[in-house]
Amino acid sequence: MKSIKDSFTTDAINIKTYPLGEYDNIVVMFSRQYGLIKGVAKGVKRPKSKLGARMQMLVANKIMLKNGRNFDTICEAQALNTFNKLRTNLDKLTYSMYLTEIINVMCTDSDEDTQNNERIYELFYNVLDGIANSLNKTEIFLNTIRFQLKFMTQIGYGAEFETCLKCGCKIKDSAYFSVLSGGVVCSNCRYDFDTYIGLHKKIREFLIAQQNCKYGEKTSYDNLVDENFCEKCFLLLKKYIDSRSLHPTRTLKVLKEIT
Ligand SMILES: [Zn+2]
Repeated sequence: MKSIKDSFTTDAINIKTYPLGEYDNIVVMFSRQYGLIKGVAKGVKRPKSKLGARMQMLVANKIMLKNGRNFDTICEAQALNTFNKLRTNLDKLTYSMYLTEIINVMCTDSDEDTQNNERIYELFYNVLDGIANSLNKTEIFLNTIRFQLKFMTQIGYGAEFETCLKCGCKIKDSAYFSVLSGGVVCSNCRYDFDTYIGLHKKIREFLIAQQNCKYGEKTSYDNLVDENFCEKCFLLLKKYIDSRSLHPTRTLKVLKEIT
């Protein structure tokens, strides 16, 4: 329990900052041990701030926080990964921001389930690193899709692509994905076409492979898919995730409006 000690150390990735007074910022972070946490970065907006650039969005730090009455204060930060390549490409930045939004809306503050936090942290770190090092948009999508699938599984909302949700049969061909139920039904169990998204066999097999592989592992599909194929999968998963959250994600909507 972090509240017992005066100060504590953890690895954390910055996901959001907002101003507090003239010189300070509140930084929302996803931490390895405690899940979502907030801390005040004092004097971060002064020119000679010792926290400085390490407190910007999408930087992973080892931080030391001091317990406070309203907010904990970030005393020290040592950069673990600044994911610099994310900031040189609008697509990389946009999809990373989308992922931070998912974490922010789907995770709870100071979650005590350390093992769960640890796994989400690793997944988040890996996806940012993967997107930062992507060579094209297909690779950005591949990373994003893996995160969407694995994150949902980790928080207990894993999507089902193999077994019909209604009759339990093992699906061999194309199927119908129900956004609301988060899984597929077979052609016999589909009674109202409008509520389902048709899922071609290839898409279904691709998603199963991405869901089941280890994060950094290559699957036999990775070199076969293109940007359009990946975008379809991404949007399907985005719809599903939005249906599970109280606040649908806005990052991509905002981008569409400004470009
Ligand atoms: Zn069925």
